[in-house]
Amino acid sequence: MTIQSIRGMPDILPEQAGAWLYLEKAVARLFASYGLTQIRTPIVEETRLFARAVGDVTDIVEKEMYSFEDRSGESLTLRPELTAGVVRAAIEHGLLHNQTQRLWYQGPAFRYERPQKGRYRQFHQIGVECFGFPDAAMDAELIELTDALWSELGIREHVSLQLNTIGSPEARARYREALVTYLTAHFELLDADSQSRLQRNPLRILDSKDQGTQEVLEGAPSLESYLTDDDRAHFGRLTAHLDAAGVSYVLNPRLVRGLDYYGRTVFEWVTDELGAQGTICGGGRYDGLVAHLGGKPTPGVGFALGVERVVLLMQTLAVIPDTVTSQADVYLMAQVPVAESAIRSLARKLREACPELRVMTHIGEGSLKSQLKKADKCGARVGLIVGESELENGTVVFKPLRGGDQEILSQDDTLRRLQRG
Ligand code: ATP
Ligand code: MG
Repeated sequence: MTIQSIRGMPDILPEQAGAWLYLEKAVARLFASYGLTQIRTPIVEETRLFARAVGDVTDIVEKEMYSFEDRSGESLTLRPELTAGVVRAAIEHGLLHNQTQRLWYQGPAFRYERPQKGRYRQFHQIGVECFGFPDAAMDAELIELTDALWSELGIREHVSLQLNTIGSPEARARYREALVTYLTAHFELLDADSQSRLQRNPLRILDSKDQGTQEVLEGAPSLESYLTDDDRAHFGRLTAHLDAAGVSYVLNPRLVRGLDYYGRTVFEWVTDELGAQGTICGGGRYDGLVAHLGGKPTPGVGFALGVERVVLLMQTLAVIPDTVTSQADVYLMAQVPVAESAIRSLARKLREACPELRVMTHIGEGSLKSQLKKADKCGARVGLIVGESELENGTVVFKPLRGGDQEILSQDDTLRRLQRG
């Protein structure tokens, strides 16, 4: 019996890894251009960190965590998201003392969910957390950053921004009471999930996809009318910044994060192209989280995107450049065995002169025809061939592989030609 991967924990095979790297490179460049620095935290944390940070009454903590006891009997958990670990680390290492932080992260997360397209048990997130900025300009900056990322990746036209404010904790506490009173009066019409959430996490009921529950919600009191003046002012500043930046959004009063220390801004980027797994990125403000985890009260705002879903969307829309999925730009071939060391030395020169160029040499035997087939298969644009006469004259056959005539060039001209791209 051969051993297989764990259900819902797929391998990222070489043919896909190019797209991942392409996304990761775009992210690293763009995030640096916004002055963000990276933080890396462990994959495993104490279970109680997530119970506290994510919330006892969420789906994640109630039924999706990979928790286990280590050999000393301590309860540990594979992180279901990365914010909790980042906040823990920021508090632990004093990163929030009299300073602000603009951090980003990337890495795997684990949730015990039913695997399907766009939903896995090991998946990957890229995210940002900024601390010490109460101003709505930071909410706007992070939304602009995600908007710029979608543009750079070529998926901007196929995603839309859903935006809401869930107010301050005080506003939400008053709203929660009104909502529970209303829903209790319509208890029989709610779906079973919503019924069980009514006392524990009633705001999450607003998220329900159930038709009957949705109908009940149409008559429910709206959170909007419970917002404080400061909540409204904050949201007004955010939308003014977004308008000025030309970032369009859809106001969605049903968008919530039902946790006490989340507040004010919540947003999601969604697409119609991926079926039920249409949310590629979610974020918001969580001014209460640092204090909730034992730090000194510090405003926070951030987002996380799902790498698998973004890659899936790029693949669906066929916006990944060919060079990303090919393995080489140039393929070097020796027409006769004595030319082998010549192509190897030429390859070294090319790599030194053009560090970005992907240079592959043919390794092993093979007729010129079979070597050309390999060159084609790896996606190279140019084949370089050295035969007996080229060996003698110090020249190279420069053969465009995607149309165009072959030429005989000196080694220096070959180099110059490839440097020009
Ligand atoms: P969903 O409603 O799809 O379950 P979520 O609200 O649980 O998403 P978040 O906790 O906000 O998701 O995580 C941020 C992003 O991570 C999501 O927008 C999504 O793109 C991605 N994501 C979440 N869970 C998974 C998963 N099991 N597999 C793949 N990607 C995921
Ligand atoms: Mg989920």
